[in-house]
Amino acid sequence: MGTDIRVHEVYAGRVLQGAGARGLVPDEVDRLGARRVLVVAAPSSAEVAQETAAALGERYAATFGRPVQHTPVEVTAEALALAREVRADALVAIGGGSAVGLSKALAIRTGMPQVALPTTYAGSEATPVLGETEYGVKTTRRDPALAPGTVVYDPELTLSMPHGLTLTSALNALAHAVEALWDTRASAATRAYGVGAADGILTALPVVLDHPSDADARARLQEAAWLAGACLAQARMGLHHQLAHVLGGTYGLPHAELHALLLAHVMRFDLAAAPDATARLRRVAGGDPVRAVAALAARHDGPTTLGALGLPRTVLREVAERVAAAPYPNPRPVTADAVEELLLAAW
Ligand code: NAD
Repeated sequence: MGTDIRVHEVYAGRVLQGAGARGLVPDEVDRLGARRVLVVAAPSSAEVAQETAAALGERYAATFGRPVQHTPVEVTAEALALAREVRADALVAIGGGSAVGLSKALAIRTGMPQVALPTTYAGSEATPVLGETEYGVKTTRRDPALAPGTVVYDPELTLSMPHGLTLTSALNALAHAVEALWDTRASAATRAYGVGAADGILTALPVVLDHPSDADARARLQEAAWLAGACLAQARMGLHHQLAHVLGGTYGLPHAELHALLLAHVMRFDLAAAPDATARLRRVAGGDPVRAVAALAARHDGPTTLGALGLPRTVLREVAERVAAAPYPNPRPVTADAVEELLLAAW
């Protein structure tokens, strides 16, 4: 078969979108025929979890309220014990990638259906992918059964995101779109999602940063993050995600902040080798896309360099060599020297 054959798969059978959509969760649970719901909620979503439990009434079984980043298997075991104890038959996840990740880990072990209510822009709810950690080692698996069958995008759940999380999470989403745009095997639909996501993020994010409670801008940003999540599910991710995985996995650097600070650097590295992606991104950015992304990243009030995130300069060469030894598909050839130079600039 030729290498230019493109395959397009769609995850999340059903997507509900709109302010107040979380009120429809009990109906969605009924559609699934479920009677004993386990709610998996981030601590920041405790109030929404309570509201959801009350709305579920007799269909509510219990809440697990302590998901952890990178889905450690021991936390999954604890939540699984609770699910068995209350004889849960469906999952409702409320939170960012950590809550959704735990829900996926439970679903793949039990076959329970999932309803996901994302509260960040990370996009995990749109993907059939799960990263889990055991003894400090992160492994990733891909299985259509991991993808939540129902996703409820209620932009009101994002109004509480602080400035830092809003910015870094939205740039995390933008990174999914950018890498989909330069994936030469991405389908026409994925490229359309990528353009829609990049356009939505670049236009709505500055408004949300200036006016965090602007409900319309929040809704536009969440919609763009949905498209970006679909890009992550469908396209092959390249150097940007590889660097985020290596630096996040091995050195424990925070997921969204890493994405935010790396993106402009990787775009500067790759765009010359990806003329189609560059043309599309220039159109949506209304000028130089690297400058637009760098300007957004500079608005972070937390660390904006790898050094400030706590990464020792002495490990940059080692990271570059690891990445170059088994590179993800990427527009520009990945050599250790070139990646070291990129990392030094980000450091
Ligand atoms: P997160 O879920 O870890 O949340 C970060 C922090 O923000 C938490 O303290 C959380 O309680 C808080 N928070 C979440 N929503 C909030 C809101 N609306 N208001 C205030 N606080 C809020 O962060 P994330 O970046 O969404 O997810 C990161 C995790 O998800 C990582 O483990 C990453 O590997 C995984 N991930 C997986 C995929 C995938 O496809 N498998 C995709 C993206 C991310």
